[in-house]
Amino acid sequence: MKIIMLGAPGAGKGTQAKKIAEKYQVPHISTGDIFRANIKNGTELGKKAKTFMDQGLLVPDELVVDLVVDRVAQDDCENGYVLDGFPRTIPQAESLDAALAKVGQKVDYAIDVDVPDENIVNRMSGRRACVGCGATYHIKYNPPKTEDVCDICGEKLILRDDDKPETVLKRLTVYHDQTQPLIDYYTKSGVLKQVDGTVDMEDVFQAIVKILGA
Ligand SMILES: [Zn+2]
Repeated sequence: MKIIMLGAPGAGKGTQAKKIAEKYQVPHISTGDIFRANIKNGTELGKKAKTFMDQGLLVPDELVVDLVVDRVAQDDCENGYVLDGFPRTIPQAESLDAALAKVGQKVDYAIDVDVPDENIVNRMSGRRACVGCGATYHIKYNPPKTEDVCDICGEKLILRDDDKPETVLKRLTVYHDQTQPLIDYYTKSGVLKQVDGTVDMEDVFQAIVKILGA
């Protein structure tokens, strides 16, 4: 069961990826984790990646693909995996397909956790962060005991710039520009599955389980 997760930042795809990994006993693989592991273990690919990251540069596509392909070839991926945050571009998707085809494999599902932009903006604008200890809250889903005051350290809670509607909308525009081609790509290859990400987290997961089978 080889699964790719698609979904806007704030749509909850990371949470769903984690739940899929737990239920189906497959690794949850994010590019960030792969980078960190390779750098920590001092692999050749990790050293290469680090030279870009140290300069504040994006790790080039081919190197990212090499790192991911290397990761999914490991023993724990024998029964499948959930890829979270990769591929992000058509060239990455094509390289992944090509690498899998070489070993007679393919992507089985591309799951798109679909949440309209306005919902994401609403979710994000309800977030609050503590200026003291960094604890995070949500005015609706996880409110502090006293409005705008941190439960842990008593400092003030603020809406971070990152969570402000204008910033979130900008990020979403970038996401859609980047991801729509991927949605088209996986639709064409017949593996795209869309789930409604606006419902409760548990219900989103049940919809995914229906697709993957119990
Ligand atoms: Zn605090």
